[in-house]
Amino acid sequence: METGRFTQTDLAKYPFLKETAKLVKQLGLKIEEVANPDMAVILNRAEERVREAILSISVGKKREANVEIPSFPVALMLVIATKNSFIKRRYALAEAKQAFSDMQAESSEKILAIARDFDWNIELNRDFAVPLEFAVSFADYLRNTTHLRDKKWKLVNRLLANGKVYLNKQDVTRLLQEEVQRRIEKRLEATELPALPEKIVEIATRLLELAKESIGQEEMEGFPKVVTQSAFPPCIVALYEAASKGRHLSHIGRFTLTSFLVNIGMSPEKVAELFKSFSDYNERLTRYQIEHIAGERGSRTRYTPPQCVTLQTHGVCVNPDALCRRVRHPLTYYKRKQRQFSSSLPKAS
Ligand code: SF4
Repeated sequence: METGRFTQTDLAKYPFLKETAKLVKQLGLKIEEVANPDMAVILNRAEERVREAILSISVGKKREANVEIPSFPVALMLVIATKNSFIKRRYALAEAKQAFSDMQAESSEKILAIARDFDWNIELNRDFAVPLEFAVSFADYLRNTTHLRDKKWKLVNRLLANGKVYLNKQDVTRLLQEEVQRRIEKRLEATELPALPEKIVEIATRLLELAKESIGQEEMEGFPKVVTQSAFPPCIVALYEAASKGRHLSHIGRFTLTSFLVNIGMSPEKVAELFKSFSDYNERLTRYQIEHIAGERGSRTRYTPPQCVTLQTHGVCVNPDALCRRVRHPLTYYKRKQRQFSSSLPKAS
């Protein structure tokens, strides 16, 4: 069956499209009915979508369109019901990655239709002198490359003409992956849900437990976005001060400070600024090293600072205080101290 620009198979593959949402509306899916036995296959598939996202950043094996299409909004509801920002991010990423993978097998016309669902100003490139299939507006390009660190996304490395950026299919679909992720994250922002059937709450609790077990509570909670300098452990305070004044830091000192700061949410740009007053400062090299430690390059592994015991051996542990006696890692120190601060704040009445 053709539904506008997309077939039902397309809508099942790309359930975040506006047309899929319209179709779901027509189906009249009601929250109270989701837990009914005749909806079990949809609910199971919805749970699987979220479970696979948590475990392996994928969404599991596809089913027929009549299950795939309604299972997506039900999965969104389950994710919202977990009230957990890690699961929300992880689910949006998993769906976006799946879409990227599926789009590789699509025709150029289908890619255009998907991009236009996001209101992109995009067209097929008719200039045969340019061996790139698509021409995308400058604004659409910029909006979707904000978080992409690879050099290839820098505008200087792109072919630009008349406000358009020329791209191949692989690049267009990678930028669409960003759009998909943002759209899903937006739908997951809803904090208010109507009263949920007990079964849904049960599944959401199960998914939350699964995330805690497989990812770990600490990792899942992450760090609050705001960097609290007053919660730094003594070793980091010393390294931070030394770096700000341009004093020499040992290799392990630089690594400890950089990995600590990127792990608590400081951007690589901000960390790089800290090293500016070093006599051997080299902007490109410093950025490269920081992005490597932050997991934005190479192995994509984000490094963490060494344990306290290692820092003690290398003389990086200085002025340990009472809290230091109860932790084994500078990041644990920071997290505990931050918690102390937030619990001592006056509660809103
Ligand atoms: S005990 Fe650990 S957290 Fe405290 S100063 Fe030493 S290395 Fe840093």
